[in-house]
Amino acid sequence: MNDAHCQKLVGSLYQLLDGEVTEDQVQFLSDHLAECGPCLERLGVEMHFTLLVRSRCQNTTCPDEVMHSIKTALQAEI
Ligand SMILES: [Zn+2]
Repeated sequence: MNDAHCQKLVGSLYQLLDGEVTEDQVQFLSDHLAECGPCLERLGVEMHFTLLVRSRCQNTTCPDEVMHSIKTALQAEI
């Protein structure tokens, strides 16, 4: 577990909600969730999958249910 990466992950999620996430950040999110058990547990396997899908569909907007699960995860964080 890497705390700096975990904090960066939360920051990237906020940017994802704003639609300002870059391809590199989506890649980072996917990679981090793949290697960090606590973050994966917190955000859920479903979101990990969604990020993987999104990383392959750069021009699509985030589906509402994904936005909802991200917001829920961020609220749990606080
Ligand atoms: Zn983590």
